[in-house]
Amino acid sequence: MDHFQLVDGVLHAEQVPLTRIAEEVGTPVYVYSRATLERHARVFKDALAALPRTHVAFAIKANPNLAVLKVLASQGFGADVVSGGEIARALAAGMAPGDIVFSGVGKTRDELGYALDSGVGQFNIELEEEGAVLAELAAARGLTASAALRVNPDVDAGTHDKISTGKAENKFGVPIDRAAGIYARLAALPGLEMRGVAVHIGSQLADLAPLESAFGKLGGLIADLRGAGLTVSHADLGGGLGVPYKAGEVFPSPAEYGAMVARVTRGWDTVLMFEPGRVIAGNAGVLLTRTIRVKRSSNRDPFVIVDAAMNDLARPALYGAWHDFDAVRPSGRRMTANVVGPICETGDTFAMGRDIDALEAGELAVFRTAGAYGATMASSYNSRGFVAEVMVDGDKFAVVADRILPEEISAAERVPEWLA
Ligand SMILES: *Cc1c(COP(=O)(O)O)cnc(C)c1O
Repeated sequence: MDHFQLVDGVLHAEQVPLTRIAEEVGTPVYVYSRATLERHARVFKDALAALPRTHVAFAIKANPNLAVLKVLASQGFGADVVSGGEIARALAAGMAPGDIVFSGVGKTRDELGYALDSGVGQFNIELEEEGAVLAELAAARGLTASAALRVNPDVDAGTHDKISTGKAENKFGVPIDRAAGIYARLAALPGLEMRGVAVHIGSQLADLAPLESAFGKLGGLIADLRGAGLTVSHADLGGGLGVPYKAGEVFPSPAEYGAMVARVTRGWDTVLMFEPGRVIAGNAGVLLTRTIRVKRSSNRDPFVIVDAAMNDLARPALYGAWHDFDAVRPSGRRMTANVVGPICETGDTFAMGRDIDALEAGELAVFRTAGAYGATMASSYNSRGFVAEVMVDGDKFAVVADRILPEEISAAERVPEWLA
């Protein structure tokens, strides 16, 4: 459930008409609903309430906006981060360093050092060499880094290839059949406290079965490690729960997920860690856009050309992803159209031959479910600026990320003297 609803014929975010945001901030603009974020955070936590010891870390890469992180920090969420920049954001949002989990497939020495100096709570190690570097850096500082070994369970998550991470051919984690040896060798290093194991098999999962299979394999590994006399006090189950992008689609609920986790992890006697991203933020945001004009031809569907483009919302171009597209003031009339942005690429297409609310030049519309992997993937391609972000809270709203203008971006560029 989200808080983007029609009120008196106008789409609102909570109590704010989107027409007002468009007038005051301009378009395109991402609009987040605080109440929706809080609701999703609560539903997720409630789903885990029956589990004895849990830790929830929001996967910052889904939506790193500081205001969004602040809302989730106030809900007791820590952060799953994949770069030094994300560590800085989690800290800036007031998250406790000890609640930060540092994932990421290629952590540099600088990032590892920064994370150690910041007091990051857990390092999810992606390969043995990385663990050795971390141990060396920690020991040199007189510290002990708490770490989990990320394993690749070789499970097909059944999702889009580009967001599948748990198959043997993917770059993530160590092969599960080599994990016990690596864990034992790392556990012997000074500077490192190996405390657990981690999996994350992919994103936008529509089915719990692959997760259940991966968790089952992780349980087997935990038993093997303990059998070898090693300590395992933490199990990180990653993120990946999918969300409906099309009205009427049904996905496993957090409650069903929580029940599955409780069943599979019974008797593990570990802290269970979670890294949800999309399921928290996805339906808490929309991308508000204005129709520039409608291009009609006699024998084809018209093109509805909007002012948002693939540089603002990359998912359709990247993954062929679907976003529901609705008018802000629907007239009741419908049209079949192709919805495209103004960028000079055919890939700048949001929908083909889709039945949508009829739109004319100047009218507003939204791409729904744009709160995760939306603004954060923006670029300045075609010398477009970076899109602005707004958060709504009841009857008020605030700009939570300024629009960055093309001239501000080009101000960082230099023409060398020898070209002047
Ligand atoms: C991306 C990612 C997540 C979050 O995935 P969602 O599908 O957004 O829940 C969690 N953990 C790790 C390690 C990730 O890379």
